[in-house]
Parts: sequence; structure tokens; C-alpha cells
Amino acid sequence: MTHQNKTHQPGTGRREEKPRFTAPHSDSVCAILRQKHRAMGIMPAQSLMMLVEGNKEHVAILKSLNITPIERHQKIMNGEADYLLIACSDARVLRMDSEGDELVGMQIRVAGNVIPTSGPSFDEIKQAAGRVKKDGVIIIQAHSHCGAVKEKVKWDGVGRWDTGSDPLNALLTEISGDTPQENALGQLVKAKQEFEVHTGTMLYNWDETTEAVRILHNGVSAIIEILCSKWNLTHLRANEDGRLSEKLAVQKPHAIVVGSNDLPYSVATITRAEQNDVFCTTGSEGGLDDFDEASVLYAVEHLGVRHISFIAPGHITDDQKLNQLFDKWEQDLRSMTVGGEPKIANMIDSKELAISNLRYDLSTGCLTPLQLK
Ligand SMILES: [Zn+2]
Repeated sequence: MTHQNKTHQPGTGRREEKPRFTAPHSDSVCAILRQKHRAMGIMPAQSLMMLVEGNKEHVAILKSLNITPIERHQKIMNGEADYLLIACSDARVLRMDSEGDELVGMQIRVAGNVIPTSGPSFDEIKQAAGRVKKDGVIIIQAHSHCGAVKEKVKWDGVGRWDTGSDPLNALLTEISGDTPQENALGQLVKAKQEFEVHTGTMLYNWDETTEAVRILHNGVSAIIEILCSKWNLTHLRANEDGRLSEKLAVQKPHAIVVGSNDLPYSVATITRAEQNDVFCTTGSEGGLDDFDEASVLYAVEHLGVRHISFIAPGHITDDQKLNQLFDKWEQDLRSMTVGGEPKIANMIDSKELAISNLRYDLSTGCLTPLQLK
């Protein structure tokens, strides 16, 4: 059996094999706020409430399964993670993990799912790659309608003029080709040069009616097959009549969530976010790298997001150390300039942009807001 271009079909034949995701009850706080956000937008305090309310479901599921995230986190810290997923920040790209997964993975989210060739963004990916076990895998996950790839094609069209932001220039330079598929394969070439771990790419696709997730390149691994078999495709089945494409035509997240790169579950699983809820980037204990900053800038400027939420590494429980890290992440954003102006800092100071700090409890999965400013 060949693994090339293997497709996973959301057809009726697979329906019974998949555990179905139970969506929050339609009158839950989350669902009401989601509806309001999509109709008219919500305030940062309500956006924070959505994250915290969604997290209650994550905690309840962990409890019902008798799972504590601490064991998964220890595996990651010991270099025994099964996979590292590098995916686009796009809010329409949903989680691929769930609480009960046997496999332990990490996620790095960055606009355009790029692998940089050098600099702090490369160091962050390298550190995370070092936590993947020897027979694990790094997966680059592209997606249909990637705004970052479209932006790069436009940028090429105008002769790659200075965007006014060095990190944004650098990020666009790393995007490869003119389509999400070409970009994924371009990033794969870089990953293969840099990392000894097996690598593969996937395309997350909400366009076609016959497939949801396609493996673009898989020279290696049964593990990608296993991951696909664990992928919850329930939401993609709505595409059988084309409604999903219509629903996701415009990206409209209510929050940018900067999650630590050692979190044992994806941000979307921790907050039970649905498609188009959260735009994700990944911070490390070293700070926010230039591509995280470029991703945040994109979401603030182009998507109009007005709330940034930081989720710190779970193992830092000391309040003083936590606050130092949150301050570092905020300072990194504040130091960003666009055309010489400290755009993000100005927006934070004028209260146009709110920041919240959250602690993830590794014993319970509980997300506690420490501050909203
Ligand atoms: Zn994208």
C-alpha cells in the first residue's frame, strides 16, 4: 500500500469508526458568546470568558477520562514526544488532538507554517524538535486558503517592497511557492535538511467534498497514519453540502492566543475552541521570536483582533517567575515597530488592545486568568 497522497474521506463508510465530538450545548456561555462575536463582535473581557468557559469542558473531559496532563508534559520534557506539528496560525485550522489521545504531541503555530532557516524562530523549532523521540515525526501542516501564502504572492507581485516590519519581511521571505501545497513542500525540504527526526506534510482542506486531510508527502511513517486515524473529522463532515467552505470564507478570530511550546495539548483543545475562534502563535521560555511577533501583527492589523492571551508553560508555577515571563512576552511585542512606530505598544497603552495572562495547571488542565489589562 502506498502512503503517497493518501486521503481520509469523511464518507459514510468511516462514520461509525470515529468517536464523535460532543459540541458544547447550544445555550452554553461559549456558544452564546461565539454567536455574538460572529454577529457583532465581543469585548476583550468576553473573549477571555470564552477561553475560560471552553476550558471547563477540557477539564471535565480530562476528569471523566481520569487523565492528568502532567504525564504528557513530562514525556515532552523528557524528549519522548511522538510528534511536533508545525501549523499555520489561521483560526480556521482546528485542533488535531484530543484529551484521550494515546500519542503525545506539541504544536508550533506560526503564520504560513514556515520553518525559518536561522534566528530565534529557528531556535524555538529546533528546541521543540529536540523533544521528539527518535522514531517520532515532525509534521508540517498546510491548509487551503492560506492568507499568509496569498499575502506572499501579493508581495511578490509588488516587487517585495518593505512592509515596514522586519519580522514580517522575514516571514514572507520564508514562504515558498505560490500555493499552500508548494509552501508545505518547500518547508519540508528545509526541515529535512535541519532535523534528523522523520518529517512529513499534510494539507488541511475545507474546500473539497470528498476529502478532509491529505498527506502530501509521507516517506516515513505509520505514525502519520495513526495520527490521521485519531483526527476528529466530525466538523469537516459538514462540508458534504459545501457549507463549511462558505462558513470559513472569512477568518474572524476573537482572540490571539500565544501558547507556550511545551503545552501538552493544543490551545484549541485546552480552550475547546471551534473553527474561527482563536488565532494561535507559540511562545517559548526564551520569549516571543520575530515570527511570533509578525503573526500577532498580522492578526491585529488584518483581522482586527483586540485581545491577546498568553498561556505560560505549565511547569512554571511560581508567581514571580510567571509574571517575569509574561512581562518578557509583552515587552517583545511592545518592541515591535511598523514603519518606525511602536504600533502594538501604542495600542496597548491606548487600551485599544487588551492583554490577558493565563496559567495552565498541569494536574487538572485548568486555565486560570491572572490578569486582564
Ligand atoms: Zn495559513
